[in-house]
Amino acid sequence: MAARWYVTTPTVLVAVLALLTGCGSGGGDGGPRSPGGTTSAVSPPPGGGDDTVEEDIEAAVRATDGYWSEHWTELFTGEYRSPRVSGAYDGAASDVPLCGEERLPDNNAVYCPAGDYVAWDMDLMRQGHRMGDAWVYLVISHEWGHAIQSRLHEELVSLAGELQADCLAGAALFGAARDGTLRIEEGDTRELAQALAALADETPWTDTADHGDASERIASFSQGAESGVRACLPDAVR
Ligand SMILES: [Zn+2]
Repeated sequence: MAARWYVTTPTVLVAVLALLTGCGSGGGDGGPRSPGGTTSAVSPPPGGGDDTVEEDIEAAVRATDGYWSEHWTELFTGEYRSPRVSGAYDGAASDVPLCGEERLPDNNAVYCPAGDYVAWDMDLMRQGHRMGDAWVYLVISHEWGHAIQSRLHEELVSLAGELQADCLAGAALFGAARDGTLRIEEGDTRELAQALAALADETPWTDTADHGDASERIASFSQGAESGVRACLPDAVR
C-alpha cells in the first residue's frame, strides 16, 4: 500500500504520509474493510471503516463544519456562519433542485452561492464511496471550501478557485484530525489521492474555471493538509 502511494505521486504524498504517521491519531490496526476490499478510510473516532455512505456523509459534514466553526476566529475576522446543507439530490430526476435559475448538475456536487448551500448527487457519492469512503470526505470538504471562499474578502480568494477549494479541504480534514474529531488511517491518503485524480482535469490549470490536473489537485490538497488554512491563501496576503 505504501509502495503504491510513493509510486503514484512521489514528493507531495510522502509529506502527507509523514504528517499522518506523526499525528498519532490514526490507529492503522487493519480495521474493517469495505466490500471493495480497500482499507477503511476517514472515519469519526468511535466509528469503524464500514460506515454506510449516509453515515460517512454525516460524519464529513460534522467534522468539516466543526473544524471551521472551531478555528474561524483564529484565522479571519467576523463570525463563522455554516452554509446550509441541502444534501442529497438526484441529478437525473425531473425535479432537480435549482441554484438560482440553474438545475443542479447531474453526477456532481455543488456549493450554490445564491442559496448559500452545499448539495451532492447521491450517485456521485455512492459510486465514489465504493472506491473508499475518503471520497465522501473530499467532496464535502471541497464544496465547503467554496462556501468558505464566498465568505472571504476577494483579496483572500485565489484565481485558481478550485485548487484553493482543494487546499481548504485538506486543511479542514487534517485540521479536524489534529483536533481529534476525525480519525485518518493508513490508506486514507491513498484514497484521497485517488479521488483527487479521478476528479481532476486532463490538463493543467490555465483558467479560473479549471480544476487542475491530478498532480496539481493532489499538491494543493496536500499543501492545506500539511500547512493549514493560511497556506491556502494567495501569497500577497499570507
Ligand atoms: Zn469546486
